[in-house]
Amino acid sequence: MEIAGSTCNSCKRPVTFAVDGKVCPNCRVVVHLGCEPEEVCGRCERPYEKCERPIPDPVRDALLPRALRMRSPGPTFVVLTTVVVAVLLIVSYYVIMDSI
Ligand SMILES: [Zn+2]
Ligand SMILES: [Zn+2]
Repeated sequence: MEIAGSTCNSCKRPVTFAVDGKVCPNCRVVVHLGCEPEEVCGRCERPYEKCERPIPDPVRDALLPRALRMRSPGPTFVVLTTVVVAVLLIVSYYVIMDSI
């Protein structure tokens, strides 16, 4: 049962990351950790299954950088930063040229 991408049964919003949710393996109901504080399913009283914290292994290590990239600022941020730095360089160039 995939937690990531499922819809929270409490708030009806998608559970984006598996670590943010838990699932009742019996009812196949997915909820956010924050939406359902109980450790057991309210319908069948079975314990929820949580996504285990990542265990270091070569596959995880290979996948982790991609996940980090997805959470990091997108290309727009990089372009904006480049433009701001370029403008600052141009402005400081003219300021220096004026002061000479
Ligand atoms: Zn929720
Ligand atoms: Zn259940």
